[in-house]
Formats: sequence, structure tokens, C-alpha cells
Amino acid sequence: MARKAEIIAVGTELLLGNITNTNARDLSQALAGLGIGVYWHTVVGDNPERLRDALETASRRADVIITTGGLGPTYDDLTKETVSEFFNKNLIFHPEILENIKQEFERNRHMKMPENNQQQAWLPEDCVIFDNPAGTAPGCAFKQNGIDILMLPGPPFEMRAMLNNYALPYLRKLSDSVILSCDIMTFGMGESAIELLLREDMRSMKNPTLATYAKPSEVRLRATARAENLQQAREMLNPVIESVRAKLGDIIYGVDIENLERACVELLKSKNFTLATAESCTGGRIAERLTAIPGVSAVYKGGVVSYWTEIKRKILNIPEEILNTHGAVSERTARAMARGAREITGADCAVSVTGVAGPDPDERGVPVGIVYVGLATPDGVYCRALRLGKRPRDLIRDLSANHAFDLLRRYLSGISPDLPENA
Ligand code: ATP
Ligand code: MG
Repeated sequence: MARKAEIIAVGTELLLGNITNTNARDLSQALAGLGIGVYWHTVVGDNPERLRDALETASRRADVIITTGGLGPTYDDLTKETVSEFFNKNLIFHPEILENIKQEFERNRHMKMPENNQQQAWLPEDCVIFDNPAGTAPGCAFKQNGIDILMLPGPPFEMRAMLNNYALPYLRKLSDSVILSCDIMTFGMGESAIELLLREDMRSMKNPTLATYAKPSEVRLRATARAENLQQAREMLNPVIESVRAKLGDIIYGVDIENLERACVELLKSKNFTLATAESCTGGRIAERLTAIPGVSAVYKGGVVSYWTEIKRKILNIPEEILNTHGAVSERTARAMARGAREITGADCAVSVTGVAGPDPDERGVPVGIVYVGLATPDGVYCRALRLGKRPRDLIRDLSANHAFDLLRRYLSGISPDLPENA
């Protein structure tokens, strides 16, 4: 029988909006992979009565309850006590856990264990104990009245380590199916255009299912299969990926790849090509996104943020004539920036961006959202002219960087650098 899970995040900070409930997100994602449906997310402050109320509600509707937070040593950490009391479990003292906590303090924090950490060595009777490889408070799991209850710590780093090492293996045994998803990543076509192409498939599919998640100019298609085992789920997803590929073609930049820049870096590596950048209105955003990828130094040489016209001329060697006649925001300048960056760095390819991010037009009256993306390659120089409209500055900068990556990705994949007509 399919299990229904509820996640209860404990912490007043969450309710005040001081922190985001990333633990609920991470837990939901992990549980989906096990075929355990998460039906409710609850957030409750550090308050025993309200936590009791939340447990009352959860135990009426869910058969897997996972709490995060409130396992620490301070007065407001009351999850363990409240949960144990609610499910009629005595707390038992574990001398070996106390010893571990003491050692953790002495070895890694070079201090004596504070008195109140003693509290963490008490756990509900008959529970499975989850070690905390990243901190001190252990977590645990027990079963009572047909409900599986798991308690995990609040700090995300500790929560994830405990989840992966102990809680997931424990939960896996509770589920008789697995859920596997894959993400088909596209760039350059709107969500509704994609939906039009795939609508019939999406409607008729029950298992696997296909859903779209859109960001400006990027759409992620998530295919999800429920099966007895991973192998079977994978075999169910393959034909879905193939049929989406057949319909969407080269706007797909990868499957289960994080973003466009990753796709570019993979392609650069496989072709043994190096890259340089010359950025104006993106102010280094392309370089930043590239250098966020570990190991990118194998292919990324570096870049120039050429914000002033003078820098475009002096550093990228853009002829005075181009800048004077066509202006800094022009196709000619974008092409010259890419060519200049390629020449001064000796990279195989260079991308460039020049445009008006707003909120006001530039000094020549070029309107907001006019952006030119250039690409210099061993086969010649390409340019994509964007009309992004009067959108927020930050969005224009992001979209411009995306287009630069897409132009590069298309060139490296050997497909037309232009986006499809209906993009
Ligand atoms: P500690 O031993 O640090 O007290 P704990 O298990 O008692 O751990 P909390 O005191 O509830 O956990 O939270 C500790 C910190 O962990 C919070 O200040 C917050 O930064 C982070 N945290 C707690 N709950 C969440 C959550 N649901 N999502 C993201 N971060 C969280
Ligand atoms: Mg705490």
C-alpha cells in the first residue's frame, strides 16, 4: 500500500521568515525517489503545545511522519521530548552516545562538552538510532500505532548527511515501489509553445507522467515513472525521452543536466576547445556562472568585463570606427568584442554580450532590452540580436547570459546557431 508522509519542520525562525524551509524541500525530493508520497508540509514554532497539535493532526492522516529541527541541546529544542511523550515512549539514557558527543567536542571542537548536551544522549525506547556524522544530536526512528516516525536535526548539512546515510535506507524498506524522474532541459521556446506540441502526450500519460516547469526562456520537462525497481523505471522513461526529443529537436540541451553552462562546459571538454568571454551589460555574470563549475579551468581561460567604451577599445582592440559609427550596443560591436577576446586570449571560442539592461535607454537612445550576443569561433563569427523588452534589469542580464551560452552550445553541437522560428 502506498505510504502517505507528512513532514513537520520545527522552528520559530521558519515561521518568522528568517530562514527558508529547505529541509522540507530536500526531504520531499528524497521521498519522491522512494515512491513515498509527501502529502503535507507542516511548520510549527518551538512550542510544545502546538507541536502536539501538529502531531495529533499528522497521526490522523499520515503513516510516515518526519520531523526536522529541535534536536539540539538548548531550552527551545523540544522535539524529542514532545514526540516521545505524544507517542507514549519513555526516553532512555544511552551512555555510549554521551561518550561519542564528548569525544566529538574534544576531538573536533577542542573544548569540553557543555553540560546541556547531555540531553542529546536520551532517546525514545525501542528506536533505531541515526548517527549524526556532521554534528552531535543523533536522530532516530520508531514505529507506533502503525505510524513510522523519524526525527532528524534542523541544520541542513546535518539533516542531509543523516538522511542519506541512515534515514533513506530505513525508509526504503517501508516502500514497495520506486519513483524515478528525469529532467529534459530546453532553451529557447516558451512553455505554452512546448505544451502545444506535447499536450496530447501529457494528457494521456498516467505512468510515466510528463510535466513542464518554466523559467523565462527555459523549460524543464520532468518525466516521472513509478515502478518496482530502478531498472524498470529507467526503461519506462527512455521511450518518453525519445518521443520528446523527436518533437522538440535541438531546443533540448541535455537530460539531467543542471543548466546551460554545464552543457557548454561538457561540449568544450569533449571537443578539447577553450573559451574566453567579453562582457558588457552582463558584468561578469557569464564568467561567474562558468567558474561556479568545478574543473572548468580545463576549458575556460578567462574574460574581460569591458564596461566603458574606452575599455572595449583599449583592451579588446575594437576599432574606433565601429564604436563611433555603430555604437557600443550594436551587432558590429558584439562581433568585434568576441573577436577581440578570442585574439587576446588565444582561446578557440569567445562569447560576448553588449546591450541595454535598463531601466533607462543608453546615451544613444537604444531602448532597454536590446542586446547583442556574439560568438567568435575557428569557423567565423556569429551574432544573435535579442529584443528582450522592458523587463527588470536583473532578468535582462540573466537572459542575455543564457542566450550567450545557448549560442555557444548550438555552435559546439554543430547545429544552426539560430533559434527556431516560434521560439
Ligand atoms: P542545533 O543542534 O543546531 O540546535 P536542531 O536540530 O535543534 O540543531 P534547530 O535548532 O531547530 O535544529 O535549527 C538549527 C538551525 O538549522 C536553524 O537555525 C536553521 O539555520 C537551520 N534549520 C532548522 N530547520 C530548518 C529547515 N526546516 N530548513 C532549513 N534550515 C533549517
Ligand atoms: Mg536547536
